[in-house]
Amino acid sequence: MTIRIAHLYPDLLNLYGDRGNVMTLMARCRWRGIDCVLERVSIGAAWDPADTDIVFFGGGSDREQGILTRDLSGRAPALRSALADGLVLLAVCGGLQMLGSHYRTPAGEEYPGLSLLDLYTEAGDKRLIGDVRADLTPETAAAAARACPGAEGLTTLVGFENHGGRTWLGPGLPPLARTRPGAGGGNNGRDGGEGVRWRNVFGTYLHGPLLPKNPHIADLLLSLALARQGQPAELPPLDDAEEIMAHKARLGKR
Ligand code: GLN
Repeated sequence: MTIRIAHLYPDLLNLYGDRGNVMTLMARCRWRGIDCVLERVSIGAAWDPADTDIVFFGGGSDREQGILTRDLSGRAPALRSALADGLVLLAVCGGLQMLGSHYRTPAGEEYPGLSLLDLYTEAGDKRLIGDVRADLTPETAAAAARACPGAEGLTTLVGFENHGGRTWLGPGLPPLARTRPGAGGGNNGRDGGEGVRWRNVFGTYLHGPLLPKNPHIADLLLSLALARQGQPAELPPLDDAEEIMAHKARLGKR
């Protein structure tokens, strides 16, 4: 078994330590004896999403997002086709924003997105910065519990947000989670949604990086990628005691 991961624009979207998500996925494969290969894809790089199992699209500053828009737009058709075929994708913050129709910056510049999901992002009047505690939607919580039985049925999501953009999801497009009252701004600080979930596409505003403290989401991504290959989706359990302790500490639980 081999899982192929593509990390988009790691040289540009590298401001918030989101590469830790790729390191987590690779470690959780290695600890299970699953081969994992990493392809770094930046501007001008040849890349076929059809040859990938999991795509990671991290966050970055407005400037870097502007630099990559032209290269990104050229990748939309192949990505759209692969996502429709069940390609697994995790997009964080700026990466989430670029999945939609556009991102309008505080300076009024409008960066075209991939238009892969029915969402858009426009800068708000202040940045949303701080710890986030959220509850996964029931569907994703149940899928994560199946994928990672060792995570003691975690149904929550924890992380750190730092974004000026406000993301609005189209009708019928569910969030990944819902922020707890007073525990983070989420997509727009208004509707309580955090991130987005569409088929095997997961978007979130949570840095941290996200996956080390959310092992159930890491294993869900791996499980979905294996299932898409026609492999057994049940992953051998790992000792996630420290990961769960870190997760619960962020929740305010001991
Ligand atoms: N530049 C975008 C914003 O400020 C995304 C930030 C990020 O990726 N953390 O909203």
